[in-house]
Amino acid sequence: MKDIKEMYAQLGISSQVYDFGETILEELKPRFEAIDKNAEYNQAKVLHAMQENKISAACFAATTGYGYDDIGREKLEKVYADTFHTEAALVRPQITCGTHALAVALSANLLPGDELLSPVGGPYDTLEEVIGIRESPCSLKEYGVSYRQVDLLPDGTFDYDNIKKAINEKTKLITIQRSKGYATRPTFSVTQIGQLIKFCKACKPDVLVMVDNCYGEFVETIEPSDLGADMIVGSLIKNPGGGLAPIGGYICGTKTCVDRCGYRLSAPGLGQEVGANLGLLPSLYQGFFLAPTVVSGALKGAIFAANIYERLGYRVVPNGTESRHDIIQAVELKTPEAMLAFCAGIQAAAPVDSFATPVPWAMPGYDAEVVMAAGAFVQGSSIELSADGPIRPPYAVYFQGGLTWYHAKLGILMSLQKLVDAGIVKL
Ligand SMILES: *Cc1c(COP(=O)(O)O)cnc(C)c1O
Repeated sequence: MKDIKEMYAQLGISSQVYDFGETILEELKPRFEAIDKNAEYNQAKVLHAMQENKISAACFAATTGYGYDDIGREKLEKVYADTFHTEAALVRPQITCGTHALAVALSANLLPGDELLSPVGGPYDTLEEVIGIRESPCSLKEYGVSYRQVDLLPDGTFDYDNIKKAINEKTKLITIQRSKGYATRPTFSVTQIGQLIKFCKACKPDVLVMVDNCYGEFVETIEPSDLGADMIVGSLIKNPGGGLAPIGGYICGTKTCVDRCGYRLSAPGLGQEVGANLGLLPSLYQGFFLAPTVVSGALKGAIFAANIYERLGYRVVPNGTESRHDIIQAVELKTPEAMLAFCAGIQAAAPVDSFATPVPWAMPGYDAEVVMAAGAFVQGSSIELSADGPIRPPYAVYFQGGLTWYHAKLGILMSLQKLVDAGIVKL
């Protein structure tokens, strides 16, 4: 029988790279234990919600056409709502991606004359067109919704003075992005977000708060909805789909907000009553069930990557020791060549399309060329092991996912191998 090192050699990992990884891993054991505890807690949350809602085989049946009286769809939405402690939820394969879910949540709850405020700096790239920061047909701006933004202070904290000044009689909705996205600011903890929500509601009690929860689900034991968010929004091909959901998005929140989202997604008068599940419910349920464990594997991968690259002298965000509030790891690789080598490694480690080479391309919604490495079962899924980033300084690669910890580990070792092979890194 081959030993583990020979198995890795077969996959293309040199003995030197493997040993370097093992040295780093040895120091991470206590952190990995804490992550397992967190996953155990979240597994209990999800299981409890499934049991309370009496999920049964009948919930997995396919519906077609209008999809009236779709018990499985309605119960899945109850399971999401109960897990995230909200009154209501909209969880649909008809929501095509995270941007779509966010666009629905925003356009359903903002009317002409209203103002949207981001107190955490610029939003995720694709939202620039949704909001109209970059001109786009059908943007909120075109519909007469104005936008204001308060940047973070240089140390990455909230600029409370200017947030207070920015909240005015037109401010209807405040959007808070939990994860850093393609920025190198820190990701906010749920507790920090809770403090910001409290502050905003003290300034204006009836203001709505939406949290872009992408990549944050199940990383902690609470979600922003536990601390006052009116809506939390995300993609099912990230954390809560557990890698099994082939498409979809969710909006969990107050009944008033979510009802409006239902009307926006389908049509006024129809709302959540329509929307056939097309046979996708088994993977949506099972993915949600697996999500706490899948997220824990992705988190271990992120921490492993941070510690490897920090040791090699690269700036990593978050750093090797700080606490985690999403599954994203940014590694500033300093040159386009290093970015491409890193991504080539992630690609080569994949179960699907391992033979492909990632090349930069102009992706819709992004203003710089983007390089993406992913060999995923679900196209574009970033709860699966993937790395991407815009080709612009500081040449940061955003690394995330891994359906299993072992695959995440291989991907990181392979990225390092490619950097070593290219002569960019010396061990
Ligand atoms: C991924 C992401 C989005 C957009 O989701 P897509 O599914 O790519 O449309 C929005 N916000 C954040 C923070 C994200 O990470």
